[in-house]
Amino acid sequence: MRIGVIGLGNMGAGIAANLIKAGHEVTVYNRSRPKVDALAAQGAQAADTVADACGGDVVLTMLADDAAVAGVTFGDEGIIASSVSDTVHISSSTISVAMSQRLTEAHGAAGQKFVAAPVFGRPEAAAAAKLFVVAAGPAATVSAVTPVFDAIGQRTFVVAEDPSAANLVKLSGNFLIGSVIESLGEAMALVAKGGVDRHQYLDILTSTLFSAPVYKTYGGLIANEQFEPAGFAAPLGHKDIGLVLSAAEELRVPLPIASLLRDRFLRLLAEGGEQLDWSAISSLAAADAGTSDHSA
Ligand code: NAP
Repeated sequence: MRIGVIGLGNMGAGIAANLIKAGHEVTVYNRSRPKVDALAAQGAQAADTVADACGGDVVLTMLADDAAVAGVTFGDEGIIASSVSDTVHISSSTISVAMSQRLTEAHGAAGQKFVAAPVFGRPEAAAAAKLFVVAAGPAATVSAVTPVFDAIGQRTFVVAEDPSAANLVKLSGNFLIGSVIESLGEAMALVAKGGVDRHQYLDILTSTLFSAPVYKTYGGLIANEQFEPAGFAAPLGHKDIGLVLSAAEELRVPLPIASLLRDRFLRLLAEGGEQLDWSAISSLAAADAGTSDHSA
C-alpha cells in the first residue's frame, strides 16, 4: 500500500519503520525535519508538507494531542483538503472522543474515509511491531486497512463502527494504567519505608497475583526510579487523564480515581517534571512518605 505517516515521535518513528519493513511504500512528514531525514535513511520518501504525505491509500497520524491532529487535518493545506476520496485517514494518536467525532464528521462531509486506531504499547513495542491496535470505523474501511495494522502490531481489536468508541477504550485503558502506577507507587513507598527491598517486593508481586505486563513494566521503572528518558512523557499522561475525565463528564460517569490522578500529574508538572516518564507520579508517594524528594 502507499502510506503517508504524519508524526515521527517516539511512537510514529517505529510505526513508520515497520511499515517500510513490511514492504509498503511509505512517505513521512514531521513538523521538525530531522526525524523525517532519519526515516528517509531507512527507505521512506520524505515529505516537505502535510499535503505531500496525503496522496496514497492511507494517511496515518501519530501526533501528540488533539491540537496537533486538528492542525494537520483541517485548513487549506491539511489532510482533508489534500486527500483524494479513496484515502483512508487512520488516527492512531490518543485523542479525545470529541475530536474523534469531529474528524469522523469532517471526513464524512468531504466524502472521505476515517478510522480511529489508537494503540497500546510503549515505544519499544512500536519499534518491535508489537503494538495492540484498537480499531473502529466502517467495517469495509477497517478491513481494507488491516495490512497496516498487521505491520505495526501483534493483534488488532475491532470494537465498533463508530470510530470514537476506539478512543474511549484507549482512554479508559490509560486511566487504568495510571491507576496501577499510582497504586504501585504507594505500595512501594510503604514497603520500602518498612525496610523491604523494592526489587524483591516487585518479584513477589509479579511472580504471584500480579503477573500482567503492566505490573512488570511499570513496577520495574518504579523500583529502579528510572523516569528518564521518558517513553511516555508526563505531559501526555496528564493529557490522557484530562481526556478520560472529559469523556466521563460527557457521559455523566463519576471517576473519582481519575480526579486524583489528574492532581498527581498536575503536581508532578508543577514541580518541574515535564521531561519525566508518566510513571514518575509514583515518586510523589515516596515524597509523601518522607523517603524521597522525587527531585524532578
Ligand atoms: P512524542 O514522542 O512527543 O511525539 C509527538 C509527535 O507529535 C511528534 O512528531 C511531534 O512533532 C508532533 N507534534 C506535537 N505537536 C504538534 C503540533 N502542534 N503540530 C504538528 N506536530 C506536532 O509522542 P509519542 O510518545 O510518539 O506519542 C504520540 C501519540 O501516541 C500521543 O497521542 C500519545 O498519547 C500516544 N501514545 C503514546 C505511547 C507511548 O508510550 N509513548 C503509547 C501509546 C499511545 P515534533 O517532532 O516536531 O515535536
